[in-house]
Amino acid sequence: MRFLITAGPTREPIDPVRFISNRSSGKMGFAIASAALEAGHEVMLVTGPVCLAPPVGAQVVRVITGDEMFDAVQSRLAEADFLVMCAAVADFKPAEYSKNKIKKRNAPRAIALVPARDILSSLVHPKKKITIAGFAAETESLAENAQKKLREKRCDVIVGNDVSRMDTGLESDDNELVLFFRNGETIAMPRENKLVLARKLVKIFAQLAEKS
Ligand code: C5P
Repeated sequence: MRFLITAGPTREPIDPVRFISNRSSGKMGFAIASAALEAGHEVMLVTGPVCLAPPVGAQVVRVITGDEMFDAVQSRLAEADFLVMCAAVADFKPAEYSKNKIKKRNAPRAIALVPARDILSSLVHPKKKITIAGFAAETESLAENAQKKLREKRCDVIVGNDVSRMDTGLESDDNELVLFFRNGETIAMPRENKLVLARKLVKIFAQLAEKS
C-alpha cells in the first residue's frame, strides 16, 4: 500500500525572518512513516520544518508554508492509497507579507491574520478511493471536536490527542490517542512511545483501507 503522510508544523511568514507557527515537532508523523516502511508499505512523506532525520526509504518532500503543503499533497494524492494528515498546519496566516524585515521602530502593534487554507477540506479527490486519517489536537471536548472533523473534513478516521498536558502530545516522545471512526466506533490507545503507537496505527489504517 502507498502511504502519503504529512508531518510537522507549517510556517506562515510575516517578513523574511519572522513567522507564525506552532509547537509540532513532526515526531508522530515521522514515527508513522517509519512504522509504515517497517510494515512493507511505500511512503511519501511531506514535512514542514522539523529537526528530525527522515526514515530511510521514504520519498521526502520538504515544504514551509501551508500552501506549499497543499500543493505537495494534492499533486501526489492520486498516487496514494492512504493519506495520513498528521501535520499541524497553521490555521491563520498574516494578512500581509513584508518583503523587507520590519524595523523595530515601525513595528505594528497588531498583526492582522486571515484564515489559512484548510488542506483536508480543499483537496480535489481523484476518482479512486483514498482512505484518509485526520488528526485532532485539542485541549478540550476532544470527542465532540473529533466527531465534527470526521464529518467536515471527509476523513475515514480521526486520531485525537489531548494536547493540554505537557508530558504527552506535542514535542513529546510519547502520546496518548483515541481513534474515532465513521461508524461511531472508538479505540483508545493509552500513553506509549510514538513509534509503538505508530505501529498500531499503521495496522489499523491498512485494515481500514482494505475494508473501504
Ligand atoms: O481543524 P484542525 O486544525 O484541528 O484539524 C486537524 C486536521 O486537519 C489535521 O489532520 C490537520 O492536518 C488538518 N488540517 C488541514 N489544513 C489546515 C489545518 C488542519 O488539513 N489548515
